[in-house]
Amino acid sequence: MSLQTLVERAEALYHDIDLRFVAQWKQEHDGKAVGHLPIYVPRELIDAAGMLPVALHGAGDQVEIIRGDAYFQSYICQIPRSVIELALSGRLAALDGFLFPSTCDVIRNLSGMWKVLFPDRYVRYLDVPQNFSVEVGGKFWTEELREIAADLERLGGRKITDSALAESIAKFNDNRRALGELFELRRGEPWRAPAREAYLIIRAGDVMPVEEHTAFVRAYVQAAREADRVKRDHTRVAVTGAFCEQPPLELIETLERAGCYVVWDDFTLGARFIEGDIEVQGDPLDAIARAFLSRSAPNACVFQPQGPRGGWLVETVRRTAAEGVVFAAPSFCDPALLEQPMLEAALDKEGVPHTAFKYAENLGQFQVIREQAGTFSDSLRLWSEA
Ligand code: SF4
Repeated sequence: MSLQTLVERAEALYHDIDLRFVAQWKQEHDGKAVGHLPIYVPRELIDAAGMLPVALHGAGDQVEIIRGDAYFQSYICQIPRSVIELALSGRLAALDGFLFPSTCDVIRNLSGMWKVLFPDRYVRYLDVPQNFSVEVGGKFWTEELREIAADLERLGGRKITDSALAESIAKFNDNRRALGELFELRRGEPWRAPAREAYLIIRAGDVMPVEEHTAFVRAYVQAAREADRVKRDHTRVAVTGAFCEQPPLELIETLERAGCYVVWDDFTLGARFIEGDIEVQGDPLDAIARAFLSRSAPNACVFQPQGPRGGWLVETVRRTAAEGVVFAAPSFCDPALLEQPMLEAALDKEGVPHTAFKYAENLGQFQVIREQAGTFSDSLRLWSEA
């Protein structure tokens, strides 16, 4: 497939808010699909039960919120409104079940509303551990995973055997490796994989079966490496804060148009929430639980037992040779905005420049952000040359 064909396919899936792709997959496989909210759920369990995991990231600017606003107060983020709007307008009808991870109170409340609104669907709230010792949090999470697995077996009508789960773990390990190859390309030669394109390619994994997405990502990396693209004198930036509600595509594009190469970001963090491989030997539920405890991607929604927050961001800046950090968080996102001052302090201590703005997934005006990002990029150029 050509680079253009790959990107067009990803873009079509991004705009498929009626989940026609999912409905077609179900028909072709005589199977079921389970949706989940950000940030993280163990998608391996859904796959091992023979069902299609579907990541829901809101509707961006693609639906007008009419009924969704009636369910939430005005001073919270946008994603729960658009997810409710999608559901009430029948656009999530292809999904047979829903998992709501304990990302924040907003997602918790959304799961309660779902139970009331859709009593005939399978709905489960995933209480991820906040204690990171193997004896306490590990035991709790393994038991929780066992219960979710039993639920999914009932929903899918298929037993999740250890070997099926180990196979699914191996498939998701490979997917994370492929995503790592894409991030490595962006780190090394960011002009070859523009942020908008890379984002669309990763988002295709919201709905594609994991093995298909892995091949899709690798095909993109190869095509992007071979493409004849001009290297520009852009500033290298890392973007953080956008792990749950997603920025509009135009915003991502705006950053690059303003002279920034995005060499790292935490968009759609759930796709690579576990860093590195999960073991495929031994008890697979134990392996998933241990990976969560010891190798979750650092972010505002995961308890950090010790040390100042922000060391990981400084390390990311060093590793990716980013010249500055852009804090881009959804308006009213408590986790991201409460953590931001601690991250800024960590960057200040190391002399790493940063700037910040807020967005909503349905933001329509980008001129102010373009000017801010452009000024940030120019000032980094000036400082580095001074
Ligand atoms: S955007 Fe922030 S506040 Fe809103 S649901 Fe996600 S984590 Fe929670």
